[in-house]
Amino acid sequence: MHTAERKPNNSFFARILAAVSALAFCLALSGCRSEMHERELFAMDTFMSLRVYGGEAESALGEISELITRLDGLLSVTNDESELSRLNRAGKAEGLSPETFDIIRRALEFSESAGACFDVTLRPVMRAWGFTGGKHRIPSADELSSLLEKVGDGGVVLDSESRSVTLPDGAELDLGALAKGYAADEAAKLVNAGGCTGALLNLGSSTILAIGSKPDKSKWRIAVKDPAGSDAAGVVAIEHGAVSTSGGYERCFTGPDGRTYWHIIDPRTGLPASNGIVSVTVLTEDAFTGDGLSTALFVMGPEDAEKYRRTHGGFEFIMLMEDGSIFLTPEAAKVFTPQGAYAQAEIVTALIP
Ligand code: AMP
Ligand code: MG
Repeated sequence: MHTAERKPNNSFFARILAAVSALAFCLALSGCRSEMHERELFAMDTFMSLRVYGGEAESALGEISELITRLDGLLSVTNDESELSRLNRAGKAEGLSPETFDIIRRALEFSESAGACFDVTLRPVMRAWGFTGGKHRIPSADELSSLLEKVGDGGVVLDSESRSVTLPDGAELDLGALAKGYAADEAAKLVNAGGCTGALLNLGSSTILAIGSKPDKSKWRIAVKDPAGSDAAGVVAIEHGAVSTSGGYERCFTGPDGRTYWHIIDPRTGLPASNGIVSVTVLTEDAFTGDGLSTALFVMGPEDAEKYRRTHGGFEFIMLMEDGSIFLTPEAAKVFTPQGAYAQAEIVTALIP
């Protein structure tokens, strides 16, 4: 009886012990799963750093690196053998890879919505300035006006059945304003497919995508670069989403006239867009829209950018201005904290009535 009474107790304790060990094992495993895996790579003409947490993080990182390298190989305008360069040379291509066709289709849709400030056929103008690959130079007004005759993405014809693209005479595509955003969104699909719990994909500081959550569930903190210094101009704290920045400082040169010329071009003039903005950081759900918008808003200028936001919605932005002030849209004001040289900056929240 005595023994019989102790037996169930023993098995009860054994079960508790087993349950506790199983729990400890699970916790240890989930600890391993939420470990951060990191990789750096150089692609799309920039340094990228990728952090993935949990699930099959290491294999997701491998797949993401392959994906970005493949997209770079397809879309680069400095690589003569890329699918995009071949399309640009021939003016027409059939049976394009699904990725190239997809990004061109989406780029044209985005461009139509962004209006005259955004055009994916700016390649001839970009080449003349030497911003991609070539030597920097200042094209003459005559040269720019004849090059601008070739610019206009409204005339690009697509056929989704044959995945063919036909460019207007002399037009050439440049997807530099959107490629990194596209790549980040495609990479996010791999993070999710790998059962990972979170990721911070930094595709060259101008395109950052935060997915899922950090192991400690704290917000992702993303620095906005101070173009004039090495410190950040501020930090954006978000649950998830894309933080995309365009700034004249990213790719620029000083001309013999002492002026600075940059790579974000106003398609209406062929000149670097100049309207008092130092940089625009856009907050969106997806990186493709954010990447496109940061370029487009930089060209639009502050007031038109804000009008565009009020009409289209779905995004917020932080604009660093040449006079040292910062324009913040309502939701951006809630998540952005200025710091460093911008800690005491004048904050403008009502740009237009
Ligand atoms: P981002 O750094 O995302 O602003 O992209 C800048 C790149 O977009 C440039 O290097 C060009 O390849 C391209 N680009 C410049 N100006 C425009 C524009 N107005 N519309 C579309 N693409 C542009
Ligand atoms: Mg962009």
